Amino acid sequence: MTLRIALIGNQNSGKTTMFNNLTGSSQKVGNWPGVTIEKIEGTVKGHPDMRIVDLPGVYSLSPYSPEEVVSRDFLIGETPDAVINIVDSANLERNLYLTLQVLDTGMPTVVALNMIDMLRARGEAIDTKGLEETLGCPVVETSALKKEGLGEAVKKAEEIAKGRIIPNRRFSDDLEDTLSKIEELLRPSVSEYDLRWYAVKIFERDEPVLDKFPDIREEADAIISKTEAEAGEDSESIIANERYDTIAAIVKANMKRSGTVSTTDKIDRFVMNKWLALPIFASVMALIYYTAIVLIGLPITEWIDETLIGEGIMPAVTDVLESTDTAEWMVSLTTNGIIGGVGVVLSFLPMMLALFILLAVLDNCGYMSRIAFFMDRIFRRFGLSGKSTIPLLVGSGCSVPGIMASRTIESECERRLTAVTVPFIPCSAKLPVIALIAGAIFSSSWWIAPAAYFMGIAAVFISGLILKQFKEFSGKPAPFIMELPLYRPPHAVSVGQQAGRQTWAFVKRAGTIVLLACVIIWFFASFDRSLGFVGGNIEDSMLASFGNVIAPLFSPLGWNDWEFSVATLTGIMAKENIVATLGILFGADMESSGLGWEILAEHLTTFSALSFLVFNLLCVPCLAAVATIFKELGWKRTGITVAYQCVFAYVVALMIFHIGNAVTGSADIPWLIVSLAAAAMMIFLIVRSGYKEESV
Ligand code: GDP
Ligand code: MG
Repeated sequence: MTLRIALIGNQNSGKTTMFNNLTGSSQKVGNWPGVTIEKIEGTVKGHPDMRIVDLPGVYSLSPYSPEEVVSRDFLIGETPDAVINIVDSANLERNLYLTLQVLDTGMPTVVALNMIDMLRARGEAIDTKGLEETLGCPVVETSALKKEGLGEAVKKAEEIAKGRIIPNRRFSDDLEDTLSKIEELLRPSVSEYDLRWYAVKIFERDEPVLDKFPDIREEADAIISKTEAEAGEDSESIIANERYDTIAAIVKANMKRSGTVSTTDKIDRFVMNKWLALPIFASVMALIYYTAIVLIGLPITEWIDETLIGEGIMPAVTDVLESTDTAEWMVSLTTNGIIGGVGVVLSFLPMMLALFILLAVLDNCGYMSRIAFFMDRIFRRFGLSGKSTIPLLVGSGCSVPGIMASRTIESECERRLTAVTVPFIPCSAKLPVIALIAGAIFSSSWWIAPAAYFMGIAAVFISGLILKQFKEFSGKPAPFIMELPLYRPPHAVSVGQQAGRQTWAFVKRAGTIVLLACVIIWFFASFDRSLGFVGGNIEDSMLASFGNVIAPLFSPLGWNDWEFSVATLTGIMAKENIVATLGILFGADMESSGLGWEILAEHLTTFSALSFLVFNLLCVPCLAAVATIFKELGWKRTGITVAYQCVFAYVVALMIFHIGNAVTGSADIPWLIVSLAAAAMMIFLIVRSGYKEESV
């Protein structure tokens, strides 16, 4: 008979490393929240009758995130013969939360205290025997990296699988009492094996589980309500509190800490200091953006645009096409449309790669979780939680996984507000726009890119305050508990893989959706309404007529030329299109060579450039992101979100342009008054939300 063993554990506990060592395969090591949600199977080397399944990394078995759903459906639906629960023993406290939940499924379980090498290096130890007693299941020490203890873990798993040895763990007597009543209700419809898990889940009022047993819903509810009334707490908190108490007791009794202060503690005293945490975070992010964009990105991008494309590829391609008597429109499509559009987007690739690598390093060495931790205190005042940090950080790569990662947030209102505000963080597709404006108008000033990032964060905060006044986004916040991982030197392979995946996604978009958009934009920019080819006379094109119709909509924001309005619209399809569109529209104006972005300076002033940038950063995200918000929140909240984002972006851009102009001495009085009124309105909304919070 073939045995199936599931590996389950927190993210980065070493599951994949262990899986690879046990099966001899080479699955990707490293994880990015919300992305790796596949389960992977393999046969154990030397045990042809034993299969191992690597489940996605999870922190609990609640049904909130897609990873959790995959893992728990597997444990409950496909009942493996045994579970190896991989615990990062250097972070025992945080990892045990999942362990207790796994044990409560009643599945035969072995706990593998992984990363034991790191624990030993810190001069700490865990009393394995004591732990076995408290948990009621076998515990083995392992190091997946150094291939220690793996054989023993497998052997133990085989034993408990064959003997179907169920873990023996109990809650407090009162709770056990209630649970056994629920078990009675369930007994007719559930096997003895699954009884405990379903009873616990029903007690927690877990919706997907309750839906499975509609008949007992009412009776169970009465039992639960009675216990809740006695405890003065809701059932989920009762269970959670018991688990936290157990964990605290386990750690206290079984963990032998070293007397010396660890390096991590030393770093954290500084990095997590109440006063220094925020300035350090701001400096780190500013430095990262500055390095990636100004130091590395812009010079290379400029070289690609001007030298490689402008003096190399563009003339060469033109020469070849013209010497072979290619039709004029075909030359134009290739040079202005494709090279001018897609080429320009791709010229930002080195910048992206640099940014992705730097962010992956931050994540890999353990700093990202710290940001979540100290941001919790701040986020809380704005209707968000520390858990919002992960989606917001993921959102700096792409809003879509960022919005999806918001599922890990338990509190409904915080989850919604996070999903809605993630797109304010400049995603990587918006980076070319930032870099373009910084390079063309602000002679590569160091502050533009970090400023765009921090404006995104400010927009998140302000919108949190404004939106939580809508009943669609208001509610009760949930507590935020997390333990911090140790700092470790970044792992080159993990960093490379993470950055590589994101870079590849960018290239793929350039080759698909951006390419398609370029051809469409080129077509409308190159033909007039009677389908005559207009060549360089872009003002006669269909796109120009259309652009001139919508341009007045944006002229209060200071960018009067229709090209910018069209670019903004194409940006809704994919934000990379903004740069591609400007490349096509302004590139067509010029002699064939060089995209020389200086031309933008003839069309924009300091404040109209800022207003254009800000509007495009804050307004509706791309269609893929809107579709994701829709999937997460439904049409009504998506409607509110999109309307809010448009109005918010318009108002902020309006204020920047007119107040900026007024300060520098060229005020447009009527619009200045409108802008000031808008600013006053925004301040009023923010202040009102503050009062509301205190009075509730
Ligand atoms: P997963 O997210 O649970 O699949 O974890 P991975 O297998 O991707 O491992 C995360 C990181 O921890 C990688 O950098 C591994 O090299 C490292 N790692 C895994 N197991 C151990 C171990 O036992 N000791 C040490 N020191 N590092 C480990
Ligand atoms: Mg993994």
